[in-house]
Amino acid sequence: MDNYNMDVIKEIKKLNPVLWKNKNKESFKDIVNSLPMSYEDIVDASNRLERFAPLIERLFPETKNGIIESPLAETNSLKHNLESRYTTEIKGKLYLKCDSHLKIAGSIKARGGIYEVLKHAEDIALEKDILSVNDDYSILANKEFKELFSNYKIAVGSTGNLGLSIGIISSALGFKVDVHMSSDAKEWKKEILRSKGANVIEYEDDYSKAVEEGRKQCEGNDYAYFIDDENSKDLFLGYSVAALRLKKQLEEKSISVDENHQLYVYLPCGVGGAPGGIAFGLKHIFDDNVHCYFVEPTHAPCMLLGLVTEKYSDLKINNYGIDNITEADGLAVGSPSKLVSEMASNFLDGIYTIEDDELFKLLRLVKDVENIKIEPSAASSVLGPTLVNANNNDTHICWLTGGIFVPDSEYQEMYNKGLEN
Ligand SMILES: *Cc1c(COP(=O)(O)O)cnc(C)c1O
Repeated sequence: MDNYNMDVIKEIKKLNPVLWKNKNKESFKDIVNSLPMSYEDIVDASNRLERFAPLIERLFPETKNGIIESPLAETNSLKHNLESRYTTEIKGKLYLKCDSHLKIAGSIKARGGIYEVLKHAEDIALEKDILSVNDDYSILANKEFKELFSNYKIAVGSTGNLGLSIGIISSALGFKVDVHMSSDAKEWKKEILRSKGANVIEYEDDYSKAVEEGRKQCEGNDYAYFIDDENSKDLFLGYSVAALRLKKQLEEKSISVDENHQLYVYLPCGVGGAPGGIAFGLKHIFDDNVHCYFVEPTHAPCMLLGLVTEKYSDLKINNYGIDNITEADGLAVGSPSKLVSEMASNFLDGIYTIEDDELFKLLRLVKDVENIKIEPSAASSVLGPTLVNANNNDTHICWLTGGIFVPDSEYQEMYNKGLEN
């Protein structure tokens, strides 16, 4: 290991915030053919979501057209507030990608989690020969399909939001669903799930344990399907579709991305599936003109340590004396995804870490300036534009990954914690 990475590890162990630049990053063209998935896979996932739109519209009319997507909003005033708060100049424009307001699940998990359950339902129905890909998929909400799906169980391990998205969509389709929740999971998330008919199983342990148990309980059961956040290609591809949608949103706003107009994207990272899938999609579209940074809490830097040490998914942060205790519950993960850590090591630009205190301040700032309700995990993305050297023609996107479902009383508490002292 070189001196740079050794110094970074020292800082990580001291729980100091760091900005790590990935020196193993290669030109995307040079590695694209070595990746385990391709651009065609992203398009395939996108087409599948289109097929399901009539069903989603029927089950969740609040989605309007059955496409679960979030706005991209420019924020000049947040940019100026960040500049004065961090006494720095932010060159380029600042946008917020508001997955905090995604319908059905209220977080970025409405992308990958819902996608994988839909794909599973499609696989079952196609296999039984009661559905063809040219059908109007709204029939999947009919009684005979619900009865069919009720013979099957879906299971997932989660710190909260993934469980919410999978529990809600699985129940709506008629599946039985087990959500294995780590100790970080908030009580209100468990309550929503129970109210939708999901079976919530609680653990005193962290996320890895919840995943392990969920996986074990499905083994050898043909009627049980485990959604594996640490390895699933379907989850990953569900997230990646965001890149195609973002491309369209950028075009609608006449925002160019090319050699003279670089794009910087800041993505909160837990196990890595969501930020990894989105970064993967963006790289396919914008090549080396997009720069992707992941963000992790100083107390849960599993992806960062996995990449810096090159141990990838074999890495456990508690072996480095780090406790995995953070209010950013969506990011409270001790070992990174195998699929993502190995892939991202070649195309990720860097990772920064952030302290919990700072998360609350940014959560408050986003509310005060833009009146957007976000959760602490999402707030981590807002620091990104203050850390990189961009140019005036460039664009920054902070990916606000969740928030709208947080109960007001809990939100108020977090907002109060963000008061400047
Ligand atoms: C899950 C989650 C993330 C990170 O996604 P991973 O796939 O775990 O890396 C970020 N923000 C929020 C709000 C989340 O729920």
